Amino acid sequence: MSIQQQYRSRAKELLQDGSVKMVIGYGEGTTATRRRPIFITNPDDTDRLVLDAACKTNLAGYLLREGLLADQKSVAIFLSPSGVRTINILASESQLSSAQVVVLGFQIQGDTVKALEGTKASDFSPLIAKRKEKRKAQPSHEMTRKLEQMTPAERFAFWEGEFSRCIKCYACRAACPMCWCRRCVVDNNQPQWVNTSSHTLGNLEWNLVRAFHLAGRCVECGNCSEACPVNIPLHLLNRRMTEEVLTAFDHYPGADEHQEPVLASFRKDDPETFIL
Ligand code: SF4
Ligand code: SF4
Repeated sequence: MSIQQQYRSRAKELLQDGSVKMVIGYGEGTTATRRRPIFITNPDDTDRLVLDAACKTNLAGYLLREGLLADQKSVAIFLSPSGVRTINILASESQLSSAQVVVLGFQIQGDTVKALEGTKASDFSPLIAKRKEKRKAQPSHEMTRKLEQMTPAERFAFWEGEFSRCIKCYACRAACPMCWCRRCVVDNNQPQWVNTSSHTLGNLEWNLVRAFHLAGRCVECGNCSEACPVNIPLHLLNRRMTEEVLTAFDHYPGADEHQEPVLASFRKDDPETFIL
């Protein structure tokens, strides 16, 4: 039986026996390489579910939409390891209860998809711990290294150039499962913290505020870069932030649901290189 068939059957069983009220998964997209989220409540519709190497979008953010989990019922959702890390962060930030989430875990490796054992986010902790060690040992991405080698003035010019194309559409924010605030500070106009028009200073402010807001929370799922209509390499900022919190604080976002937020917690052995 193909992995897609296995997951369709599992989804059908969960809906039929009443374990979950909905399955959030992937359906056919507009092209062969695109998949769209689908929300299945009828067991007869599970044949619409698709699971292949094109299922890259992190679907975890949909669990927070429209009070979906407010009735305390469970929802099953297709998640890669970064999606499971998202559940851990959302649980640690009191946005959902992981007990209501049934994970249909999978991992994409090249062109193939591998099934992952487990149904609760905590079942994946050993896998996430391994990924953390792998991430620590991983050399920086080539472009991240290039940016590090630039002088501060060159790096500033690079980002100023990239952000100058930003049209403030906020698609990156809408696609990010970590941007769960009902009202974002950038939409506030009394007082207006970040200018909403698309110009050099405002664009820089917006993108840097967002990057810092995601420090220690970003799971590098890539939803934001994929959503950006002008192809700003947001993943370079996210990667750099991840490396920074991993090196300085041994913090791997979403390791488990009891993890404390890196920028809002303090340990006696935290490096304090900024204090002279
Ligand atoms: S900032 Fe981008 S890569 Fe990070 S969690 Fe949000 S959408 Fe995913
Ligand atoms: S998606 Fe791209 S263009 Fe739109 S606000 Fe985000 S960075 Fe700017």
